[in-house]
Amino acid sequence: AAKAQGKNAYAMFEPSMRHGFDREVMWRAELQQALADDTLHVAFQPIVALDDHRVAGVEALARWQHPRLGPVPPDVFVPVAERAGLIADLGLLVLRRACAEFAAWPGSPTAYLSVNVSPSQMLDASFPSKVAATLYEAGLRPGQLVLEVTENVLADESEVIGALRRLREFGIRIAIDDFGAGYASLRYLHRFPADIVKVDRTYVRDIARDPAAVHILGTLWQLFGALGLTAVAEGIEDPSQAAMLIDLGCRHGQGFLYGRPGPLTAIPLEPARLA
Ligand code: C2E
Ligand code: MG
Ligand code: MG
Ligand code: MG
Repeated sequence: AAKAQGKNAYAMFEPSMRHGFDREVMWRAELQQALADDTLHVAFQPIVALDDHRVAGVEALARWQHPRLGPVPPDVFVPVAERAGLIADLGLLVLRRACAEFAAWPGSPTAYLSVNVSPSQMLDASFPSKVAATLYEAGLRPGQLVLEVTENVLADESEVIGALRRLREFGIRIAIDDFGAGYASLRYLHRFPADIVKVDRTYVRDIARDPAAVHILGTLWQLFGALGLTAVAEGIEDPSQAAMLIDLGCRHGQGFLYGRPGPLTAIPLEPARLA
């Protein structure tokens, strides 16, 4: 009877489960194909000094142009890759591509390359040596690379912390990405071996209309300074946000105001004059 009941219960949920399962299987197969065909590419967005708009670094962002479905956003395919066990392959592919393109870019001697990594990539004990090998192949120094890690449950694992330590000992810098978007933010600040903290764009978005956001950011900047962390404000879209951030003591930022993600060659080497 229990078996029959279980079967019925399954049948009852089947339409939605099947749908979700089909979708997952579809994305997984498509992504596997894309990795095999090498149809993923990388877009770059400038990270600038807010005072003179000099390019301090570039963030590599994975892009997937599907032959039929068009562009698939990374917010969709990165989680699929994580669930399908494909994130290590995808991450390494992005890193290789990004390093090769960056090394060939005339701006690379004075700017850094920032690459997103999933915490699960760092559960692979050979991750730090793979990164080192990739840098070596591209002819880049460890000091030219920043790895961005988002606060998340996995990032708290001691294996992940250990990998971050090894990477930093090697000279690679670590950035906490989307700081403040997660739930355990302050704990991460002192538990995480990091050099840079990227403040989530929701704080920047609220800065113009929410006095509380201004106070939070002002206090955060003091805290980052005390902890020796360099801060980068994400998602700056208009000059008034930039002006307020500068007043708060923020020195680096990223956002559509300074450039959208695109080909590395589209990023100007000379600081752009902004209104
Ligand atoms: P992220 O690392 O926080 O990257 C910044 C995201 O904000 C990018 O979205 C970028 O296009 C967007 N953005 C930049 N400036 C602005 C702005 O002024 N306004 C607004 N509204 N958005 C802005 P994108 O490229 O869609 O990437 C989304 C997320 O996907 C990334 O967030 C990152 O977490 C993840 N991702 C992208 N590429 C990779 C990758 O190679 N590996 C991993 N593990 N994750 C990746
Ligand atoms: Mg990022
Ligand atoms: Mg971010
Ligand atoms: Mg993000």
